[in-house]
Amino acid sequence: MISNNPDMAILSFIHCSKCMDEFMKERPEHESMKIYSKLSVGLTAEGFQVWCDRHDANVFKIAFEGLNEQLKRGKNCKTRMF
Ligand SMILES: [Zn+2]
Repeated sequence: MISNNPDMAILSFIHCSKCMDEFMKERPEHESMKIYSKLSVGLTAEGFQVWCDRHDANVFKIAFEGLNEQLKRGKNCKTRMF
């Protein structure tokens, strides 16, 4: 169990396939895939993206396509432009 918090709705985590391949080959001791991954997650002009910082590559990108973005944000979501 990852969390007892009822707001946690994740059924399957997103990982970079290249990171996953490396992780499976090297199997760093006492390190989880969650720690090994170097992912950036954020809003885009169209929706949402997960970016692998380790491989400088897109992992997942989705457009909200008219859905109210506020509906997709959790109450603890804070965005900041960099
Ligand atoms: Zn990666």
